[in-house]
Amino acid sequence: MELKNYIRTIEDFPKEGISYKDITPLLLDPTACSFAVSEIIKGLEGQPIDKVVGIESRGFLLGMLIAKALDVGFVPIRKPGKLPAKTISQSYDLEYGSDTIEIHQDAIQKGEQILLHDDLLATGGTAAAACRLIETLGGEIKQVNFIIELDFLKGRQLLPKDKVKSLIHF
Ligand code: 5GP
Repeated sequence: MELKNYIRTIEDFPKEGISYKDITPLLLDPTACSFAVSEIIKGLEGQPIDKVVGIESRGFLLGMLIAKALDVGFVPIRKPGKLPAKTISQSYDLEYGSDTIEIHQDAIQKGEQILLHDDLLATGGTAAAACRLIETLGGEIKQVNFIIELDFLKGRQLLPKDKVKSLIHF
């Protein structure tokens, strides 16, 4: 199955000059979603994964399906002020300004093996900040996976070496 056929490019969204990769055609197709999940978890058989962590908001979509397929729990990373219990935060630089993400302090226990998921890897700032949150709580990053990777932005350079997996490359 050619997953690239389920990604649509929208020019000048959300701002002029941005070529936005839209995953909603993939979400419309249950067979393609199942295929994407099976490709992501391929090779993890027999490896202990304790939890899947997904990044707000599109990382929740397949993230939860991946957690279900692995029969493990799911942990959301969210924008500031959205998680109700005690959180830790991590800020990261954007082209202009900075952003912050949060995780519940009790969501990960020391030594747990974590699979981190988001829909798309661009500059890598968001996923690198998510890795820091996981590691601050004592989690160990087993794999960082994405549906889409924008290769030309070299985001994987900010992420744990040899642990990045992406299904589709642009
Ligand atoms: P980064 O921090 O790697 O530069 O940006 C990645 C984050 O921005 C991800 O959470 C991703 O959801 C979002 N993102 C940036 N560009 C796109 C895009 O073209 N399509 C989608 N679906 N998400 C994007």
